[in-house]
Amino acid sequence: MLDYCIIGSGISGSTIANYLNKNYLVKVFDKARGVGGRSSFKRYKGKIGFDHGLQYLSPRSKEFKSFTNKLIKKKVLKHWRGKHEFLNEKVKRDKKHIKLIGVKGNNDISKFLLKKISCNFQSELSEIKRQKDFWYLKFKDNKYIYSKNLILSIPFPQAKKLSSKFVKTKLFKNKVIMNSSLTVLLMTNKTSNKASSFFTNDKVLGWVSKENSKKRFKYNKDLWVLQSTFEYGKKHTNKYRNKKKFYTNVLINKFKKLTKIKIRKTYFTHIHGWKYSSNSKPLSVQSYWDKKIGLGFCGDWFGGPRLENGWLSATDLYNKIKK
Ligand SMILES: Cc1cc2nc3c(=O)[nH]c(=O)nc-3n(C[C@H](O)[C@H](O)[C@H](O)COP(=O)(O)OP(=O)(O)OC[C@H]3O[C@@H](n4cnc5c(N)ncnc54)[C@H](O)[C@@H]3O)c2cc1C
Repeated sequence: MLDYCIIGSGISGSTIANYLNKNYLVKVFDKARGVGGRSSFKRYKGKIGFDHGLQYLSPRSKEFKSFTNKLIKKKVLKHWRGKHEFLNEKVKRDKKHIKLIGVKGNNDISKFLLKKISCNFQSELSEIKRQKDFWYLKFKDNKYIYSKNLILSIPFPQAKKLSSKFVKTKLFKNKVIMNSSLTVLLMTNKTSNKASSFFTNDKVLGWVSKENSKKRFKYNKDLWVLQSTFEYGKKHTNKYRNKKKFYTNVLINKFKKLTKIKIRKTYFTHIHGWKYSSNSKPLSVQSYWDKKIGLGFCGDWFGGPRLENGWLSATDLYNKIKK
């Protein structure tokens, strides 16, 4: 029987798994095909690919800065310098914050943390039951396992659905609103523009990154990631699946109009809707741990909208478990 079953291989799940694996028998399960959750990397071929969700890290807390500095030394993370343009001059420029990215892709941190841990992908947890002093955990493909403790590092609405009847506190009474957004991955002819990213302040298209500028590969085509604003995502993420071509074109046309970059040819597009992109309203606690029944939660939704919040939450949970 497992000591700890961890659901989710994003930053929160991989961080808590890494801490616990030093003293316990731990396994990670994720419904996705690979590591990283919302910091996943979509491979096109070989080293060439797109950061699908998270674009970069800007560490703010002392603890997270020290963790990311270690990862820079270990060549897991590197700086993304380049020319980060603001298309609207009225936007306050945030020059202070450094931009860190994975050396090969933004799921490098999770990969590094999970290096020594057994991970099972395409495994979606669908039901949990408490039996005597352990958990019975059933997955969508009807497989099941037993574990003494269960950690859910998944977005708030999914955690609530699976486990609310086991939570005695007011945790799930909180109004956690997770913003939605649309992302288009785009491959075009090589262009002469030298920018690494564009912050637009438009109502539809919020942010554009040029993946070639992350210097992970050399390629004779340009790779772009176009991200909608939350305002646009809120209205359209639920219905994008039936109109993928339409929404792809909306974001591409905005991109061309705002940046004036000359696109002659499009070689590849892919659109994805993030239903639970991020939570901008922090809770009063960083994580949840019920020692009596061995149930814990961690995730960015406790603390805010960034990857750092997921790491801080997992670290806080580990400190509670250790006590
Ligand atoms: C488009 C986009 C852009 C972003 N840009 C930035 C940025 O530039 N900088 C920044 O700091 N942050 C950014 N973020 C936020 C950042 O990605 C998240 O804060 C962070 O990745 C959250 O990590 P997490 O581990 O808490 O959750 P997740 O990464 O969501 O991990 C949860 C995992 O649980 C799995 N899962 C869910 N339900 C189940 C189930 N029932 N069974 C099994 N597995 C399950 C999911 O597949 C997922 O892999 C961005 C997010 C998005 C979507």
